[in-house]
Amino acid sequence: MRSFINYSSDSDFSIHNIPFGVAVFENEYIACCTRIGDMVIDLATLYDYGFFDDIAGFDENVFESYTLNEFIELGKPVTNAVRLKIQEILGEDSKLASDEKTIAECFYNISQVKMMMPVHVPNYTDFYSSIEHATNVGKMFRGEDNALLPNWKHLPVGYHGRASSIVISGTDIIRPKGQMKPPEADTPVFGACRQLDFELEMAFIVNTNTEMGDSISVADAEDAIFGMVLFNDWSARDIQSWEYVPLGPFLGKNFGSSVSPWVVTLEALDPFRTTSPVQNPEVLDYLKFEGDKNFDINLQVYLQPENGAETLISSSNYKFMYWNMAQQLAHHTVNGCNVEVGDMYASGTISGENPDSFGSMLELTWRGTKPLYLEDGQERKFINDNDTVIMRGYGEKEGVRVGFGEVSGKILPAN
Ligand code: MN
Repeated sequence: MRSFINYSSDSDFSIHNIPFGVAVFENEYIACCTRIGDMVIDLATLYDYGFFDDIAGFDENVFESYTLNEFIELGKPVTNAVRLKIQEILGEDSKLASDEKTIAECFYNISQVKMMMPVHVPNYTDFYSSIEHATNVGKMFRGEDNALLPNWKHLPVGYHGRASSIVISGTDIIRPKGQMKPPEADTPVFGACRQLDFELEMAFIVNTNTEMGDSISVADAEDAIFGMVLFNDWSARDIQSWEYVPLGPFLGKNFGSSVSPWVVTLEALDPFRTTSPVQNPEVLDYLKFEGDKNFDINLQVYLQPENGAETLISSSNYKFMYWNMAQQLAHHTVNGCNVEVGDMYASGTISGENPDSFGSMLELTWRGTKPLYLEDGQERKFINDNDTVIMRGYGEKEGVRVGFGEVSGKILPAN
């Protein structure tokens, strides 16, 4: 498959990808869009010109919107057909290739547009599905013997997070303030977080509304998942470690999460399907699955100090996940909890076995006891003010590359 649009061989946005997003184009005009190479394409105008006329069930120009919610709610029969149609009209032999007027009107360089939150997120859930991450954190917070709690291998542990503070890549994050109890102190103190961290995660986005009482089975779960984004789940470790017993994450987590702007569909990720780690002990029937439900997606984290260069500080992979998305969604709804279009379900921090694959500063520096060093020699135990954290992710197999671009966020001093 080739396109009439030229892009470099290491572009995340090849003809095989066709992700969806929302952009502010010139003159404050906002619409849903896709991307190939460095070109962002206004889908609302393409719709008006009749490019999607032959797609059944696509009767309204829902690309004229500030979010993708209405589009993804149409479900896979429509959204998959639209993606394939875009792939076809971007192909090298397409009529569009010589249609200079439409190209001039609908195609923008990425540098000309501003990306927005791709979806309105009604609800956000954060899982805890990497066994290496859960074990590492357990060792630090509870000691070697209680690292993995007895329920962990029987259900995908998660909690309900805060949707209001999910922001698009490039949005600054203000260092949170809160209550902390330093290990040597008898009483808590109040102040700016001193152990600010990132969490390397991915999140999936649901395309359906269900009724209370309904469940989504493991077998049906992927039909309800539109696509994925990169997800940085910022965390205040000192606030978290004092507050989290007995009800779990709260102010250490809800001050901000950053997402990448392009939603990559599960269909685009299909070539990167792979096996999951073996689940032992065997899981209960409602969590059993067939086929390859994990994805081989390379993930990287870079730290960039103010006016400095990026240093690669972690290289992980989504395939390390112990629990897959289908199991997460089946578990989430097995009690009858209803889901809503646009809901985001984050994986939990994605760490591998090797120390250079750990997905948080907490693990990379072992709670600050083993500082890491940036390329300019600066030391970091956690994230400093004016540091920028950048995450990137892509699958690559047999010459096919599909990626997410990046999610970045800069930490500003506490208010
Ligand atoms: Mn998290």
